[in-house]
Amino acid sequence: MSEAGAVLMDGNRLRDEIVNELNAQITAAGRPAVCLATVLVGDDKPSRIYVANKQRKAAEAAMESRHVELDAETSQSEVQQVVADLAADPAVHGILVQLPLPEGLNPDAVLELIPPEKDVDGLTPRSMGRLVRGQQGHVPCTPLGVMRLLERYGVATAGKRAVVIGRSTLVGLPQVLLLGRKGVDATPTLAHSRTPELREVCRQADIIVAAAGIARLVTADFVQPGAAVIDVGISRTADGIVGDVDFETVQQVAGAVTPMPGGTGPMTIACLLQNTLSAAQMQGAFPLAVSA
Ligand code: NAD
Repeated sequence: MSEAGAVLMDGNRLRDEIVNELNAQITAAGRPAVCLATVLVGDDKPSRIYVANKQRKAAEAAMESRHVELDAETSQSEVQQVVADLAADPAVHGILVQLPLPEGLNPDAVLELIPPEKDVDGLTPRSMGRLVRGQQGHVPCTPLGVMRLLERYGVATAGKRAVVIGRSTLVGLPQVLLLGRKGVDATPTLAHSRTPELREVCRQADIIVAAAGIARLVTADFVQPGAAVIDVGISRTADGIVGDVDFETVQQVAGAVTPMPGGTGPMTIACLLQNTLSAAQMQGAFPLAVSA
């Protein structure tokens, strides 16, 4: 619970639960190698921290990781060769190319080389196509992490109105698809920078997912009493890292809210690792779970 009574949707805690479950599953299967490869190009500081966290949590989940680091001057064809080699290597089950790539490199041509079964970030056109068509494939980790938080904290979705703020292919668009999926059954609205009267649109919602990258965009007056509010945005400001949600005021009215940090960020990593295990399963490198 937050001080004001909203349920705190604790991403660190759920991430730890998921990492422990993955470790237990891999250990129970006799620890077959499940390998996540990460590719980092250039020296963007936040990217370096993200990749290091992913590797650390992979190790805690009893997974192997392989890391390729290339300097910012690496050519397009060299980056593509590295990714093509990982794609062809049967010992690698998941490939994550940390974005953004340095200026001058074309990320689309690099991502195209990742086969859908190894695309644990779920961002390639083929994975996105599978998501749209409801076919088996990897779902982008950040919106998937939001869904896990909703499930874990018992936030009802069926028949509920949801508003997703932001329409990127990384977060907003797949989030809308996931919320509207059969079985989840929310009615999502996709809001963006050209949506008029965003506050009124949000006030209709039972669930708000804020992924605009605008510090403290969502204030208490955007929130219907009792609504669940999930903060995806990350803005680096003079006061440090700030989310899209004005946590202090929103927790006074929301029924459930994510902290920032400690909400969606850790869940992105947890879902990456879940996707890596299912990648190993898709490639026949890990036994499929036997359902009871
Ligand atoms: P993006 O810049 O590609 O997209 C932002 C979207 O927000 C756009 O579609 C735009 O239309 C919309 N938007 C911008 N200003 C708006 C406004 N005033 N009102 C309504 N909509 C507005 O960003 P992205 O890649 O989707 O990332 C969004 C945010 O989420 C960023 O802050 C990013 O750092 C963060 N992020 C967090 C995680 C995580 O794990 N928590 C993962 C990925 C991205």
